[in-house]
Amino acid sequence: MAENSEKMEKPKHFIQLKIDKDLETKKYDQVYTRFPPEPNGYLHIGHAKSICLNFGLKSQYNGKTNLRFDDTNPETEKQEYIDSIKEDVKWLGFEWDQECYSSSYFQKLYDIAISMIERGMAYVCHMTPEQTKEYRGTLTEPGKNSPFRDRSVEENLVEFEKMKNGEYNEGVCVLRAKIDMAAPNMNMRDPIMYRVKKTAHPKTGTEWCIYPMYDYTHGLSDSFEGITHSLCTLEFADHRPLYDWYLKAAEVSHFPEQTEFSRLNLDHTVMSKRRLIQLVEEGHVDSWDDPRMLTISGMRRRGFTPKSIRNFCDRIGITKKDNIISMSTLEHAIREDLDEIAERRMAVTNPLKVTITNFPEDEEVDVSAPKHPKKDLGERNFKFTKELYIEHDDFMMDPPKKFFRLGPGRMVRLRNAYVIQCDEVIQDENGKPIELKCSYIKETFGGVTPEGMKKVKGIIHWVSAKYAKPIEVRIYDRLFAHPNPVAAEDGFLSTLNPESKQLMRTAFIEQGVDGVKPGDCYQFERLGFFTADPDTTPEKAVFNRTVTLKDTWAKVSSRN
Ligand code: ATP
Ligand code: MG
Repeated sequence: MAENSEKMEKPKHFIQLKIDKDLETKKYDQVYTRFPPEPNGYLHIGHAKSICLNFGLKSQYNGKTNLRFDDTNPETEKQEYIDSIKEDVKWLGFEWDQECYSSSYFQKLYDIAISMIERGMAYVCHMTPEQTKEYRGTLTEPGKNSPFRDRSVEENLVEFEKMKNGEYNEGVCVLRAKIDMAAPNMNMRDPIMYRVKKTAHPKTGTEWCIYPMYDYTHGLSDSFEGITHSLCTLEFADHRPLYDWYLKAAEVSHFPEQTEFSRLNLDHTVMSKRRLIQLVEEGHVDSWDDPRMLTISGMRRRGFTPKSIRNFCDRIGITKKDNIISMSTLEHAIREDLDEIAERRMAVTNPLKVTITNFPEDEEVDVSAPKHPKKDLGERNFKFTKELYIEHDDFMMDPPKKFFRLGPGRMVRLRNAYVIQCDEVIQDENGKPIELKCSYIKETFGGVTPEGMKKVKGIIHWVSAKYAKPIEVRIYDRLFAHPNPVAAEDGFLSTLNPESKQLMRTAFIEQGVDGVKPGDCYQFERLGFFTADPDTTPEKAVFNRTVTLKDTWAKVSSRN
């Protein structure tokens, strides 16, 4: 309910306003969008913005959305990427109307290219790549016409046929649109339509050895599919005149329209597929779905919910102005969602043994606590026993005054159970505490402070050594320490956060958490939200820290 009213109150963004107008003036009678990834990597959080926009408009306007694989670069594209993209879009909660491939239009695009040659709108150019560059001019100087620009239609048809038949090697010649070498917009200076690439294609195999360029392919594919609003990021604004030019040159009957919006930039991460590939291939992360990666699959593994990602995209909005969104905004979105749905449990990630000396050897006391503080999900039950584990960090040999946890001679409350006092510390040969001998105060059970006793401020979590289950906990933090890794002087890899992954292999979770399946999520009290990893086995659950309970980085930056 709250979410709906939030949506209703939100003012429409410029694309929605444009669509309203287009429908009102009957420019289009329905909304048809597409999400057009190139299958050369896994989708990331930036793509989620585009997915939420395109599919969001579909549901808002009762329209349609295609998933189109923009597969015109056979060297870098793989079936593995196609499969992962489909999985990710579905997981985010969206359904496409048609699954399309630019490659399925290769014949149609080729026929249009022939027709453009016949109408004197395209020519085969045999300049070398260096000459082509030189002839292109600069932003301030016009380009020069290629000496091949005035080839006859017949010669062009023959040459293009030769290109298609594999008679030319890569880089020898290209097909170019004949537009204007003096155009102020460099994209209009006789752009390349086709180049030779003798690489097998994941879909069309070796059927083609010429491949159409993005600009030529994209608008025409939009037109073939009946797309009305072709939404892309701002860097394509300069390509719009070319998008329109190709539609006219091809004499299409349906004219889609391109509109640009700002791409998502997030601090503390890199977003381009090129860099993400480098992180995976050079082993800086474990895989594409490494929970530190802001790929959709990495975020899924980390424990992000589809809803939290959709809420995040909704919150950052759609504008025409580039900006950088704080990672805290993304973390806030997942914290907010998990706070609602995650049951609470106690887990100890770095155990320190505590023996309650005045607690009888064989006694066990039943403890119960709510599964969720705000929802009526019932209680969980576990035992308090003589031997316990607490978090190493909750004890200090020589604590400062403001440390409200445990230290020699100090008292602390064990959550849901008793107040204990540390009477003796057993240390190893290096002085590291390995066990605490404590006494408990029976009358303090369940939050009670008996009359005459000073209230104990600190409350820490614990598990019973006898009943707790061993688990592995993986603590993840931001992959990059630098807020803008690509701007780092020594390159983005130099700012990798060396503490972005910490394995806690001897952690414990309270009694009663059985049959954990990958994806199960809990709040470990005081520690954060944790989601079971696919590495979980029936013998041992493995939990990823999805997000901390509070924004720990905000503290760091305000301290600095
Ligand atoms: P990258 O630079 O990461 O390789 P790309 O733009 O080349 O991304 P595509 O697969 O071509 O990736 O993108 C598919 C769609 O997703 C495009 O419409 C593109 O504009 C959009 N998109 C990609 N990155 C972002 C982003 N950071 N914010 C918003 N939309 C994005
Ligand atoms: Mg791209």
